[in-house]
Amino acid sequence: MTKLAIMGAMEEEITPLLANFTDINKVDYANNTYYECKLGNLDVVIAYSKIGKVFSTLTASTMIQKFGCDTLLFSGVAGGVNPALKIGDLIVANQLSQHDLDITAFGHPHGFVPGGSVYVNTNEALKNIALEVASENNIKIIEGIIATGDQFVADEKRKEFIETTFKADALEMEGASVAVVCDAFNVPCLILRAISDTADMDAGFSFEEFLVTSAQNSANFLMKVIDKIK
Ligand code: SAH
Repeated sequence: MTKLAIMGAMEEEITPLLANFTDINKVDYANNTYYECKLGNLDVVIAYSKIGKVFSTLTASTMIQKFGCDTLLFSGVAGGVNPALKIGDLIVANQLSQHDLDITAFGHPHGFVPGGSVYVNTNEALKNIALEVASENNIKIIEGIIATGDQFVADEKRKEFIETTFKADALEMEGASVAVVCDAFNVPCLILRAISDTADMDAGFSFEEFLVTSAQNSANFLMKVIDKIK
């Protein structure tokens, strides 16, 4: 690893990460701001993409292609689907899928388009480091499937569809697109999320109540992971 990308989707997700760095150089590029900084000798670029698959694809691609990052870590919040995931709990993705990608009219499975695949994998080694960090620090974490779509899910029926169709443990709006970019460029990635809500009818209220603390949980944990890999 020579240059590390750290991404969130919203400002609230990167604020607790940026707090760990000094001497930050702001670079404006392609309608976004990238924060260049250092951790010891390691070059780091931090950015939040804005919400959704399109913006997160743009930011992940930019961090790799323009800034030359060769490892990407994502930190943020998600809706819990697996009932074992409570507010604030962590999940690290082993696979991700796009739950709103639908050309089933042509006989394809949900989440599939020709040339792609229903699931995209993340990096096994980075995921294992996250699991190790959790066990060493006695922190609860679940390894599982994250479903991504351009939709804030606050509906039991939609949540159930995503759970049964994709065997998803959590859902959010950026992970799969970031993982697709990293897979295409052969850049190891880690997708980490802390639960802010459970994607049910109260999800909007829960999200607003727990966004800051859950984003902080995810950021704190990610800093421990970075400590181990740097
Ligand atoms: N309140 C924000 C919108 C948040 S969208 C605003 O008004 O600007 C939800 C964000 O948190 C996305 O980045 C997504 O990745 C994550 N997320 C958390 N819970 C989610 C849920 N139930 N459904 C979809 N995304 C969720």
